[in-house]
Amino acid sequence: METKILLYLVAGVLFILSLAGLSSAKTAVRGNRYGILGMLIAVVTTLAFSMHSWQSALLIYGTIAAGAIIGTAIAKRIDMTALPQLMAGFHSLVGLAAVCVAFAAFYSPTAFGIGTPGHINKFSLLEMSLGAFIGAMTFTGSFIAFMKLQGLMSAKPIRFAGQHLFNGALGVAIAVMTILFTFIQTGDVLTIITLCAAILGVLLILPIGGADMPVVVSMLNSYSGWAAAGIGFTLQNMLLIITGALVGASGAILSYIMCKAMNRSFFNVILGGLGEDEATNADGATEERAVKAGSAEDAAFLMEQAGSVIIVPGYGMAVAQAQHIIRELVDILKSKDVKVKFAIHPVAGRMPGHMNVLLAEANIPYEDVFELEDINSDFSSTDVALVIGANDVTNPAARTDTASPIYGMPILDVDKAKTILFVKRSMGVGYAGIQNELFFNPKTMMLFGDAKKVSEEIVKAFEMM
Ligand code: NDP
Repeated sequence: METKILLYLVAGVLFILSLAGLSSAKTAVRGNRYGILGMLIAVVTTLAFSMHSWQSALLIYGTIAAGAIIGTAIAKRIDMTALPQLMAGFHSLVGLAAVCVAFAAFYSPTAFGIGTPGHINKFSLLEMSLGAFIGAMTFTGSFIAFMKLQGLMSAKPIRFAGQHLFNGALGVAIAVMTILFTFIQTGDVLTIITLCAAILGVLLILPIGGADMPVVVSMLNSYSGWAAAGIGFTLQNMLLIITGALVGASGAILSYIMCKAMNRSFFNVILGGLGEDEATNADGATEERAVKAGSAEDAAFLMEQAGSVIIVPGYGMAVAQAQHIIRELVDILKSKDVKVKFAIHPVAGRMPGHMNVLLAEANIPYEDVFELEDINSDFSSTDVALVIGANDVTNPAARTDTASPIYGMPILDVDKAKTILFVKRSMGVGYAGIQNELFFNPKTMMLFGDAKKVSEEIVKAFEMM
């Protein structure tokens, strides 16, 4: 038993080292390795120290094998740009697992060592109802997030009159039912708690729209951690409690950091947009207004004449996988004594750190990559801002249009550069579904086309000079 606890402790320490490593791009690979090792120790220890009949061993190992095969197949097929929906999908399964464990414990209390049917101890009943509540809310909330991120339903906020009041009433009903459940211990009450929590999960995520989705994904990550910790109490597994708490706490901290970066109220987001203005101009319609379109040769000429260029990568760079050719472009610019920097918005792309990962993959030096607050003041003294597949993170509506769904979000001050080059395929909108006035700015030149193809053409144009 001591060996098991010791190994669990080692795994727990490795998870903490993993989180510490993931806090910086330079140590992230090491952090991932600690996490893998910790998980390996956790799984092997749990299996090695459990006594099983051959039937249950068959069930356990069979289920692990099936899960591993399905998980590997999905992870191998998925594009990096689809990672947020993959995470949301997998979080929903953690929530579902928590609900299943709560019901299993309720109907087979002896197997869990928490009493006999009808005579389960009160503390375990409370754990069960909390596990079912957080689990069901995570399950349905993550499912809605998955649908929104996958484009299977509109990413726009969906609200109805009195929604917050209704959510509040559901919350009170769940609290009352939980107290009742600890006294009367009937499966019906646990089912009602679960159903109310499932509805609440849907209602909390439906009103989240536009640019707030990244915060929600990280918040659901946090919920799934707390759901896992809840299962840990029911299963009396110390490591599951530690791991769940680590995921729950780190997810909550990340959500808070992202809310600060996005200038959003943490409580507004976790309470499903509470207090937000109902008005929105999330009008995705593209306008028939004149824009200045240029060629790769024009772009190469402008950048050759420039003393400084700031590159702003976004989701389109990830889709096109243009980071490697952009690295070549950077090398050419540097060889011509042009100062080049990268400006990274905290929610650029489709997951936190998305752009940093891609730029690191293309061996772009860390010292050339700057976060929003460290680079924004440089735009006004920069000759060319080259925006590659980014849109929302440069949209000045965030500063001026109080009805915009991204109003209040800090943006990269691309509009302050002397010349702005936008590489994108069309006049299409970004994730928040809103028009970007910057396309019509007299300083802007649009370079229409796939980010990789246009970047290749710019590199070719430099070679022809
Ligand atoms: P946006 O989604 O605002 O814009 C991306 C732009 O890329 C589109 O306008 C699109 O225009 C263009 N694009 C798409 N494919 C290509 C391609 N192959 N080549 C060239 N351009 C392409 O991206 P941003 O990075 O500016 O902003 C991220 C948005 O995503 C924010 O609203 C953020 O809130 C949201 N989000 C972020 C998450 C995160 O964690 N980072 C998670 C979930 C959402 P066109 O079609 O004309 O080519």
